Amino acid sequence: MPGVLQLRERGVRGVILSYVDTAGINRIKTVPLSRLEHAVQWGVGISPVFDVFLADDSTTSTDRLGGPDGDLRLRPDLDRLVVLAGQPGWAWAPADRFTQEGEPWIADQRGFTRRMVSRAAAEGLSFRTAIEVEWAVGRDEDDFVAACRGPAYGMTRLVELSDYARDVLIALEEQGVQVEQLHPEYAAGQFEVSIAATDPLGAADDNVLVRQTIRAVSHRHGLRASFAPVVLAGRVGNGGHVHLSAWRDGANLFTGFPSSAGGFAAAGILAHLPALLAVGAPTPASYLRLVPSRWAGAFACWGVETRETALRFVPGTAGLAGAANLEVKCFDLTANPYLLLGALVAAALDGLAGRRPLPEPVAGDPTNLPDAPRLPTTLDAAVDAFAADETLREALGTTLFDAVVAVRRAEAARFRDADPEEVAAALRWVY
Ligand code: GLU
Ligand code: MG
Repeated sequence: MPGVLQLRERGVRGVILSYVDTAGINRIKTVPLSRLEHAVQWGVGISPVFDVFLADDSTTSTDRLGGPDGDLRLRPDLDRLVVLAGQPGWAWAPADRFTQEGEPWIADQRGFTRRMVSRAAAEGLSFRTAIEVEWAVGRDEDDFVAACRGPAYGMTRLVELSDYARDVLIALEEQGVQVEQLHPEYAAGQFEVSIAATDPLGAADDNVLVRQTIRAVSHRHGLRASFAPVVLAGRVGNGGHVHLSAWRDGANLFTGFPSSAGGFAAAGILAHLPALLAVGAPTPASYLRLVPSRWAGAFACWGVETRETALRFVPGTAGLAGAANLEVKCFDLTANPYLLLGALVAAALDGLAGRRPLPEPVAGDPTNLPDAPRLPTTLDAAVDAFAADETLREALGTTLFDAVVAVRRAEAARFRDADPEEVAAALRWVY
């Protein structure tokens, strides 16, 4: 990371300390550059109540969290500090939370990813992950009006938003984010960017940074970006597909899939998938997206290059070494990426430890199968599966696990009587 003097030379005046709460909302504190070193050493105050904040800024509670008492210290991780291209004068750093005694906070979401990465390393394993980002570009209005016209995947869209899309690429590149591709997607005004795979902590950081960069560039162009699962009910939504591979001694366990250890890892993820939805599809809006025939992965099965199953095995192009991976399609970008990638690692490790057998793959559209296994179709059902999942409880630790359950139940309750249009409208510009 550049030193304070270099940051000042690059025009930085303020540093953003970025934290993602249990509801998946990016909350922040900032310090002037002159206070950065102090913030690194001592942290800045942040209430533990954010662990049980909801997407509308109300709070819920668990037996340990949610009161007005207590304070934590938020410390920026300088290894990931970047100078923001879309917000001149600002640098950004993901931050970790500590107790006032200097211990890592037990319910810290980023700390959870770190723990799962260390747990894998103790078994001689590492994971490479990437989260695809889909978003809808709208005009700067509360209703969603697509900012461009033209067919899905079509050149017309890029012509109309040519400068905008270029500025997204420039900003991400200047921030050291490795973009693999950017393209117009299916839904009106929808685009997608794919990012190179890296370790889970880095991929979660990238995911937060990429979304906030797209948001900032959109704003500078007088546009509005939505990463919500659906911007309009009943239409194709925004996914947050996760690509994942597991490595031991420099070898990709997904090579030779499914009759390799990668098959055990995939079986672990498949077995925990209904519960994982409470982490990766955490809002009522998630279930408006997660329906058949929208390539959202609504079925609890796997296939080779199948875009309708929740798990799509990607063998990789012949000759491209190490490219085999598993794409988990059912998740969206309302997820806290730290919780999601940590939980996926926990599920994969569980599959590997138990040498869990992988069921037969599905070919074609699962809708045509007589007994195609649907994933939970409501947030309530996903939370029930999560609340009963002892593997995830042990991995997250009770404090964080209970916070996830409480936040999800409260989000479900908040929209109990809402129709799909109301759900979509309420979350459209929050995520
Ligand atoms: N937009 C789809 C979703 O909701 C995904 C389309 C694709 O396969 O990239 O996940
Ligand atoms: Mg896509």
